[in-house]
Amino acid sequence: MADKFDVIVIGAGPGGYVAAIRAAQMGLKTACVEKWIGKDGKVAHGGTCLNVGCIPSKALLEASHKFVEAKHDFDDMGIQAGDVQMDVKKMIARKDKIVKNLTGGIAGLFKANGVTAIEGTAKVTAKDKVEVTDLDGKASTYEASNIVIAAGSVPVEIPPTPLTDDLIVDSTGALEFQETPKRLGVIGAGVIGLELGSVWNRLGSEVTVLEALDSFLPMVDTAIAKETQKLLKKQGLDIKLNARVTGSEVKGKEVVVKYEDSEGEKEITFDKLIVCVGRRPYTKGVVADGLGIELDQRGFIHVDDQCRTSVPGVYAIGDCVRGPMLAHKASEEGMMVADIIAGHKAQMNYDAIPSVIYTFPEVAWVGMTEQDAKAAGIKVKTGSFPFAASGRAMANNATEGQAKVIADAETDRVLGMHIVGQHAGEMIAQGVIALEFGSSAEDLALTCYAHPTMSEAVHEAALAVEGHAIHMANRKKR
Ligand code: FAD
Ligand code: AMP
Repeated sequence: MADKFDVIVIGAGPGGYVAAIRAAQMGLKTACVEKWIGKDGKVAHGGTCLNVGCIPSKALLEASHKFVEAKHDFDDMGIQAGDVQMDVKKMIARKDKIVKNLTGGIAGLFKANGVTAIEGTAKVTAKDKVEVTDLDGKASTYEASNIVIAAGSVPVEIPPTPLTDDLIVDSTGALEFQETPKRLGVIGAGVIGLELGSVWNRLGSEVTVLEALDSFLPMVDTAIAKETQKLLKKQGLDIKLNARVTGSEVKGKEVVVKYEDSEGEKEITFDKLIVCVGRRPYTKGVVADGLGIELDQRGFIHVDDQCRTSVPGVYAIGDCVRGPMLAHKASEEGMMVADIIAGHKAQMNYDAIPSVIYTFPEVAWVGMTEQDAKAAGIKVKTGSFPFAASGRAMANNATEGQAKVIADAETDRVLGMHIVGQHAGEMIAQGVIALEFGSSAEDLALTCYAHPTMSEAVHEAALAVEGHAIHMANRKKR
């Protein structure tokens, strides 16, 4: 029997590595097991987020956005940039360098905090035992008073579009294209599909997004979703709603995709196809049978509000449990669980988790949509403010979009904030804080915002709840 730990964390993604660091900071003897093999053939920490998710996608989104700005927007500002070209291979190499820096950084953080990093594939074999098979196939068993499963998720594959080496790829493959495909298909108009579609659209691909649902971004407030759809269409993304992909055929270097819409069956040919139809928990084999740790049909580990599984001392967090598949949600759960194991009282507010789509402009939201509130029978009052009326937005060449505040009509409490606009992902923190602190719309309206900032649109939207926005004709009838 190998070492005994207070806590063993399985998986070093943003859920697991944060849980491990926090547990060690609490004075608990902690180990974290990871099996991800990076591009250099060595174990890499950071999970989906750092290796093939949040960070690499943002590296490509930022580079491709700067390319568009330099090519199309600089001239208007008086900047003569000449014939702007994109070196795709260099862009991908920069992304790889960022990934390597960050994943290597986690190993450094483990060392600094006294977390023991174990390399290999872990399996919970008893409520206090974890078996780890290392890269050479040798198995060792570790004892732990507490186990945290943070095994994450992997892309969903669908039978109509089996992945190929380089023609039909998932989100991971779409971060590796070495040149811009001429015709690019994206299946799924979710967060990841829109972000990856945007990257390659900006670099010159003709992008068609096929989405089975008949509504666009149903989780976002309708007004914001509608505006986003219009803006992405203007940029050249051809988003086909109500288009369910039913088959595909690889023909030489092309892929012919069959889909059904309201008019019947259709075909469309692409040079590359990205399948972005969601993610599924990666829990197969993580838990030995018969331990009493319950998984649902889709593989999510069943947990309570504090991430306890059905077996005392075993916790599960992040993408492998219910709730939004987001890195910050995984990390918050990791900290909560470490605190609970250390004997502290801890809980999470699942109603105040922000979401961001890093298109341009960004889309960000937290809390209820107007339609959610109405469906729940809550009377609301709302205030919106367009960036077209913001001085800073004009200076930034970013006048598209709007901020919207949704408040309870009786109590004025902020129920939601939904924004489409440049830096919406930064601005949404104000909505999160408003929800956490139980603020009223008036609290936001009475807050002094720096001028000129994009955030002033949030201030104005809060003022608009009572019809008092300053830079907009919006007086409400009394
Ligand atoms: P993961 O990050 O998936 O980590 C799980 C880790 O566990 C992996 O390293 C895996 O190798 C390891 N593991 C699994 N099983 C075992 C085992 N048996 N033994 C040892 N190790 C094991 N989220 C955001 O919040 N913002 C974004 O902008 C964003 N962008 C994204 C873009 C893309 C393209 C993708 C694919 C995802 C994006 N996400 C984003 C989602 C985000 O990456 C995930 O929500 C997040 O990584 C989940 O963290 P996690 O720790 O639960 O799991
Ligand atoms: P998300 O779960 O946010 O990553 O989004 C995935 C999207 O893919 C959802 O909006 C699904 O409706 C969509 N989707 C799933 N299967 C198909 C399919 N066969 N054809 C088109 N869209 C699909």
